[in-house]
Amino acid sequence: MPDRRSPIQDFLELIHARYADFREGEVATYIPELANANPESFGICVATADGFVYEVGDSRQEFTIQSISKPFVYGLALDERGPEHMFTKVGVEPSGDAFNAISLHKTSGCPLNPMINAGAIATTGQIGASPPEPCFERILEMFSRYTGHAMHVDEAVYESESLTGHRNRAIGHLLRNFDVLEGDPTAAVDTYFRQCAISVNCVDLALMGATLANQGINPLTGTRAIKDTHVRSVLSVMASCGMYDFSGGWIYNVGMPAKSGVAGGVVAVLAGQLGIGVYSPRLDAQGNSARALQVCRELSQAWQLHQFNPPFCAHTSRRMRCTGEERHSSRIRHPTERACLGEHGGQIHLFEIQGNLAFATVEPIIRDVVRCTGRRGVILDFHHVTGINHVASQLLADLADALSHQGTAIFFTSTQQLPLLRQEVGSHLADASVIDRLFRFRSTDAALEWCEDELLRELMPAGPLTVNDLRLFEIASGLADEELGVFSGLITRRPYAPGDYVIRRGDEATSLFLVTKGIVGVWLGDHESGKRVASFSVGTMVGEMAFLDGARRSANVVAEGDVECAVFELEDFNRLLESHPQLHTTILRNIGVSLATKLRKVNEDVRILIAERQ
Ligand code: GLN
Repeated sequence: MPDRRSPIQDFLELIHARYADFREGEVATYIPELANANPESFGICVATADGFVYEVGDSRQEFTIQSISKPFVYGLALDERGPEHMFTKVGVEPSGDAFNAISLHKTSGCPLNPMINAGAIATTGQIGASPPEPCFERILEMFSRYTGHAMHVDEAVYESESLTGHRNRAIGHLLRNFDVLEGDPTAAVDTYFRQCAISVNCVDLALMGATLANQGINPLTGTRAIKDTHVRSVLSVMASCGMYDFSGGWIYNVGMPAKSGVAGGVVAVLAGQLGIGVYSPRLDAQGNSARALQVCRELSQAWQLHQFNPPFCAHTSRRMRCTGEERHSSRIRHPTERACLGEHGGQIHLFEIQGNLAFATVEPIIRDVVRCTGRRGVILDFHHVTGINHVASQLLADLADALSHQGTAIFFTSTQQLPLLRQEVGSHLADASVIDRLFRFRSTDAALEWCEDELLRELMPAGPLTVNDLRLFEIASGLADEELGVFSGLITRRPYAPGDYVIRRGDEATSLFLVTKGIVGVWLGDHESGKRVASFSVGTMVGEMAFLDGARRSANVVAEGDVECAVFELEDFNRLLESHPQLHTTILRNIGVSLATKLRKVNEDVRILIAERQ
C-alpha cells in the first residue's frame, strides 16, 4: 500500500495537536442551549478553490452557524435587491463595537455594517421582501448551494434564542422606528433567529469559503451560490467587520476575510485559493472562538495566506515571443519568397501567452506589443491561457482596436477555450469588422501564413514567378538551355478545380508535381475533416519523396482554389538515366537539395519546440 500521506494533512494534524490543550475562553451561555456544547470539541477543515477537502478532529461535529450566516445572507440580499438598494439600508463601515451593540447611524438610523446584529437583522428583512414570499426558505436554499447538500435548523437552539433574544427584538423595533425595516420587525427578527440556528460543520464552512474563493461557484457541484460581482462585496465586509471589534487585529495578523459565530465556528477565505472552517466553542472577550483564532493565525503564517502578501504573477504570462524572421508558417515557399521573409519577417510578431490573465499579467504583454517596431502583423496565441478576467479581455480588445486602426493586422488564435474573451471583445468593440478579423484564424499557423502572404504581396508586387518558366523551379536549377528543353518536353500541365485531389494517401507514387498556379494543401486524413499540416506555393515541388523511395503516398494533397501543376512522371525520369545521364544526375541532385531545405525547416521547428520546453 503506497503511503498517501500529504504534508498538508500532516500539518493540519500538527496544528490540531498543538492546540488540543488550549483552553482559553468561555462557551457562550446567553443563548441557554449553546451552553450545552462540549467545550473540548475541536475541528479544522481546509477546502481548496477546486474542492479538495482536508479535515482533522471534530470536523463533522454539527453546531449552529450563528453570525457566520451574516455575510452569506448579505450576499443573497445583494443578489436579490442590488447594491444600491442595500446601501439605503445598511452601511459598510466597521463599527468597532461588539456584535450585539445597538450602533445605528446618527441621522439615518441605518446600521453601520451587515456583520453586527443590527445590520444583519436589517439585511434579513430585505430577503424576499418584494414580492412577499417565504424568505427563510430562500435563505436555506442559498446555504445549500454553498454546502452542496440540504440544510436544516437546530430547532432547540432556535427555540432557545427565540425565548431569550429580547435585545435583538429591541434592535428590530429600533430599525422599524427608523424605517430601515418596513414591515413587521418581529418577522425579520424571527427569520434572523432561524438563520442563526442553521446547523453546519467545519466541512460545510470550509466549502462555503471555497465557494467564495472560487468566484461564487461551489467547486464540487458547479452550482453558483452568489453572483460573481457580489463575491468581493461579501469578502470586503468580512475583511473589515467580520471579527467584530477584533477585525483590525485579525486582518493585520491573519490577513483573510473571515466571520465568526458565537457557537464557536469561524470561516476564513483566501480568494482564488481556499476556504477554512474551524470549530471550537470557547470564545474570547470579543466573542470569537479563541482556538479558531490561533489555528487561522498559524495556517496563515505557515502557508503565507495573508491576502496582502504580494502575488508572484506579473511576468509569468509571456511564454514565447518571436518574429516571422525566426518562425515560419507551414507553407513551403519558393527560395525567393523565403529570402524575402528572412529579410522582412521581423515585421510579423508572434506571442504565446500563458496562465491566468488579469491586469498585472496582461499589462506586460500589452507593453511588449505596443513597443514592437515596424509591426505589420501581430499574433497573440492563447493556447496556454488558463483563464482571463473581464479587465484583461477589455484591455486586449482595446489593444486590438487601436492596432487595427493603425493598420496593423492583429489576430487572437487558439481562443476556443476562452468564451469570455470573445464575448467581452464582442460587447466592448463597436467595429464588427475588427472583431471578425481578430478571431478569423483558429490556429497560429494559419494566421502566420496569412501575415506572410500579405507581406510578400506588398514586397513582391509582381509576384515571385512567371508560372510558365520552369527554370524558376529548384528542380531545374543549373540546367543548360538544351537540357531545359528536354525536361520541358517531358512535362504535362494539369489543371485542378478547388478541392480536387492532386495526390491521394496510399496511392502508388508515379509522378512529382511542380505548382505553377495557386496553392495546394497537405492534409492528414480527409480534406476538411482532417488536419492541414502544410501547403505549397507557386514555384515549389510536391510529391518528390515517394518519387525517390518508391513508397506509397503518405498524405492527401488538395487544390486550394484554381491550381495548375506541371507533372513529371517517374517513368520519364528513369528513362533519362539512359538517354541523358547528366540531366538525370542534375535533377536528382536538385531533388536532394529541395528535400534538404525542407528537412532544415523541420529541424528549425523542432529546435523552437525543444527550446520552448527547456
Ligand atoms: N444569534 C446570535 C445573536 O444574535 C448571533 C451572534 C453571533 O454569532 N455573534 O446573538
